[in-house]
Amino acid sequence: MPYSLLRPAALAALVLLAAACSKKDVTPTGDDRNDNLLLGNPSGAVASPNSPTNYLLVRSQYAVGYHRDQGKPTWVSWHLDPADLGSAPRQDDFRADTDLPSGWYQVKATDYVGSGFDRGHNCPSADRTATVADNSATFLMSNMMPQAPNNNQQTWGNLEDYCRTLVRAGNELYVICGSYGRGGTGSAGYQTTIAGGKVTVPAHCWKVVVVLPVGNDDVSRVTSSTRIIAVNTPNDNGLSSAWGSYRTSVDAIEAAAGLDLLSALPTSVQSVVEARTDSGPTN
Ligand code: MN
Ligand code: MN
Repeated sequence: MPYSLLRPAALAALVLLAAACSKKDVTPTGDDRNDNLLLGNPSGAVASPNSPTNYLLVRSQYAVGYHRDQGKPTWVSWHLDPADLGSAPRQDDFRADTDLPSGWYQVKATDYVGSGFDRGHNCPSADRTATVADNSATFLMSNMMPQAPNNNQQTWGNLEDYCRTLVRAGNELYVICGSYGRGGTGSAGYQTTIAGGKVTVPAHCWKVVVVLPVGNDDVSRVTSSTRIIAVNTPNDNGLSSAWGSYRTSVDAIEAAAGLDLLSALPTSVQSVVEARTDSGPTN
């Protein structure tokens, strides 16, 4: 094809492509709504009953790296965008997760009672209010960790509120959180386990939040200047309610928890964003 004919055709194609892109870019929910593992599987968890200490549990609402012998997640990962925030009421239907492989202990709704620790959501109830089913899924006990009440209700709660503030301001988030270590101090003192040893009380609860303006092709939009908030809190009822004072780097959490976070990002991006400690606003 002569150049004089090729050029108008190419220009027309570019114009069409640009129109398609700009139309997509204003889609309010982005294109990865249910891709809760888009930024990686932090522990290489697998959905096999032969992987009891690193078991992958995928729901449309969130993904879990579950530890059968600790009776709690190692991590939970989810995507949060404006479409996730609706009007479904809090269901409060805490219950055993019958989707775990047969023969595994299913932590019961009553297993934390009297322990001095809250049933602390990993993926929060208030992040899943688009439908009743979405909200109810957050109350499965496989999404809970024994969390000191002041951590759950104040420090952690304030950070969760701030995440939703970011979403209401036009962002979408990738959130990965979890817990590690053994032994925490709740309202009834120090414990290493509860429920007769079936549930480990973690020493630390951590969270990593990747903040992007709502849009598409999210992996490719994370750059060395993307805001990433990493927080690591002691599971101790005497902690501060100011979550910002517990900010750290992703690298520090990876080293402490033995995980590779954000592994779907190019290593050149990981090496920069994971070394940084956020100093942005906290409310
Ligand atoms: Mn790293
Ligand atoms: Mn990493």
